[in-house]
Amino acid sequence: MEGLRYEAPETLQAAVALLAAESGPTRILAGGTDVIVQMETDLIEPQLLVDIKKIPEVRQIVAENGGFRVGAAATGMEIMQHAALCKAWPGVLDGVKLIGSIQVRGRASMGGNLCNGSPAADSVPALITAGAVARIIGKSGVHEVPVEQIPVGPGKTSLAKDEIIVSFFLPPRPARSGDAYQRFTPRTEMDIAVVGVGVNLTLDANGNCTAARVALGAVAPTVLLVKAAADALIGTRIDEAALDKLAAAASAACRPIDDKRGTKEYRIKVAGVLARRTAQQALERARQN
Ligand SMILES: Cc1cc2nc3c(=O)[nH]c(=O)nc-3n(C[C@H](O)[C@H](O)[C@H](O)COP(=O)(O)OP(=O)(O)OC[C@H]3O[C@@H](n4cnc5c(N)ncnc54)[C@H](O)[C@@H]3O)c2cc1C
Repeated sequence: MEGLRYEAPETLQAAVALLAAESGPTRILAGGTDVIVQMETDLIEPQLLVDIKKIPEVRQIVAENGGFRVGAAATGMEIMQHAALCKAWPGVLDGVKLIGSIQVRGRASMGGNLCNGSPAADSVPALITAGAVARIIGKSGVHEVPVEQIPVGPGKTSLAKDEIIVSFFLPPRPARSGDAYQRFTPRTEMDIAVVGVGVNLTLDANGNCTAARVALGAVAPTVLLVKAAADALIGTRIDEAALDKLAAAASAACRPIDDKRGTKEYRIKVAGVLARRTAQQALERARQN
């Protein structure tokens, strides 16, 4: 870590300028629960760490246009303590609550979870099924990008070196909407998902599904938004036949690896089972709204 420079700017503009001016490897430091571990194990050797936690815009959680704007560096615990956000988006909360331990969630952020680029990142499937849009600032200005366009491979994002995710916008909820995220892990605590599934759906007054999004984690190089799985639910009452189609579509979309947590075949099977269970939970929540 020789020559490592640490900066903690108080504005977004200053943070962008620091990142743009550094010619060597850089990292943004939000909670540091990935970055510090990776530095300690020599996986990365940044020349510059830009700590963004002193920048107000990346820490706030505010209601906006009927939805919520969640700062990219708001911690898991801050998100969990925001009652209105948790009520509107219980599936997003499911994902955040699964990140590490209480201590880890005291620091870990959704921006870091997304930009670390793990296909197994627990908050990402539910953010994608929510239709969350990331606000990004860089030297060329501010722009907005759907969350699913940010991860491009394990450890890789579509962000330029000088770009920072400022916040995520979670849109307003139509009536009778529900979302859920479930993961399967060999252990109950502090483990990495073998498969993670996010489902977000909306029902009409007769109980028919009018909109759905389904995302799968840990079964491909990036989290997958699976249109065929959503299409299996839309226009149905989410009965057994629709759930069978959903499970088949989820399994068919998987492109997993073999590793110590499970074989390809195992992950493909679990993805179908978990998609069904997660859709049933999202359905129960939608019926309560
Ligand atoms: C013990 C332990 C258990 C864990 N368990 C889980 C788990 O169960 N599930 C899970 O998903 N993860 C888990 N993690 C991983 C980690 O906690 C999460 O990925 C966390 O959300 C990372 O957030 P952070 O704020 O700490 O990110 P940081 O470590 O600060 O940053 C991570 C990466 O994102 C980039 N970055 C951060 N913020 C931004 C931004 N606003 N804009 C652009 N780039 C940014 C950084 O440059 C860096 O590359 C665990 C980690 C530990 C140490």
